Amino acid sequence: MAIPDVPLVNTKGVHQAVFLRAIIEMETDTGLVGIGESYGGARALNGLRRAADGLIGLDPFHLNELRQRVEAALPDSGGINAPTMLTQHQVVDTTYSAFEIPLLDIQGKHLNRPLCDLLGGAVRDRVGFGAYLFYKFAKPADQPGEDMFGEVMTPDALLAEARSLVDTYGFKSFKLKGGVLDPDLEIETMRKLREAFPHAPLRIDPMGAWRVPTALRVCDAIGDILEYLEDPVRGMDAMAELSAQTDVLLSTNLVVVEFEQILEALEKDAVQIILSDHHYWRGATGARHLGEVCRAARLGVSMHSNTHLGVSLAAMVHVAAATPNLTYDCDTHYPWTAHDVIKGGKLPIVEGAVAVPVGAGLGVALDQDAVAEFHALYVAEGLRDREDTDEMLKYVPDYVRVVPRW
Ligand SMILES: [Mg+2]
Repeated sequence: MAIPDVPLVNTKGVHQAVFLRAIIEMETDTGLVGIGESYGGARALNGLRRAADGLIGLDPFHLNELRQRVEAALPDSGGINAPTMLTQHQVVDTTYSAFEIPLLDIQGKHLNRPLCDLLGGAVRDRVGFGAYLFYKFAKPADQPGEDMFGEVMTPDALLAEARSLVDTYGFKSFKLKGGVLDPDLEIETMRKLREAFPHAPLRIDPMGAWRVPTALRVCDAIGDILEYLEDPVRGMDAMAELSAQTDVLLSTNLVVVEFEQILEALEKDAVQIILSDHHYWRGATGARHLGEVCRAARLGVSMHSNTHLGVSLAAMVHVAAATPNLTYDCDTHYPWTAHDVIKGGKLPIVEGAVAVPVGAGLGVALDQDAVAEFHALYVAEGLRDREDTDEMLKYVPDYVRVVPRW
């Protein structure tokens, strides 16, 4: 499917007119249907298609066999991301994850239990999310869907965006997608947020846009007001170099995205917090395992978001509710789209939190009319892969992608 997006800016470019997602439905011979949501780019879809036929006859409780069947269908399949992306996710991991959620949804429906009960049970009945703040362009008139906030490219405009998101959703913490403006302007932005929201946890994520000296300068300037600093510099060794010189907590969703990478991060003391995400950390069960590994390794665990809809949000909430040490507010892009594919409209964010769905399985159902509408948009738009850097040239014709830039 393609869903209207807004031009949110980041280190490597800007969001396109639409974002791509895949909806997965799995059906049992007893008539149960499990649903899931995952990446919609070409490589991710190719992985789903190549693995799907091999899943016929699989017992929905046999997740180990799911892994074996996915690996058998996708030998040497590599990553899903374009070379211009800043990290890489393995096709076997994203494909396994995409099918695991529908199977857990089926298990929950079979047992008449919410999905979080299959992960050990919820330790909280509401999951906190932070306001995910972006610098952005105004949406061009020829793009589908509505804009939000118009152009936001100054500290004051960003503060106004933050106030509006708080008014609507009651957020109690903030994460700024940084690496967009000159670091001094991003420092000024964070200080304005601190002034306006004296007690709110604050984070900034420049996605590797800074070199180590720049990151150290930012740490000196605003380290004392940050809850944590996400991927300030690019690569494991640069993160380790920075970590050795600052007490500011460093988090990542770029240098540690597979279990194997945790060992290197520990050896180098490169990060203190790892971002979970069931879309690539081997599903909900893998994300739950990540929480336990982080507990044992004395690392913090938080939660990453890609642009997503309500099926993914429901899964994120179940995972977060069943991960005891995930005590940070999670990331979500959910407020950045007015659309959804679940029945009953979007899941409400109230006082900065989403209630754990109480129905069996995921606790959300597909609105097939909405799925058809956004599939039609996928066909009409013709976009098959995310390419933020190309998109940036429409707004800034002489744009050159450089990471790190400062
Ligand atoms: Mg990040």
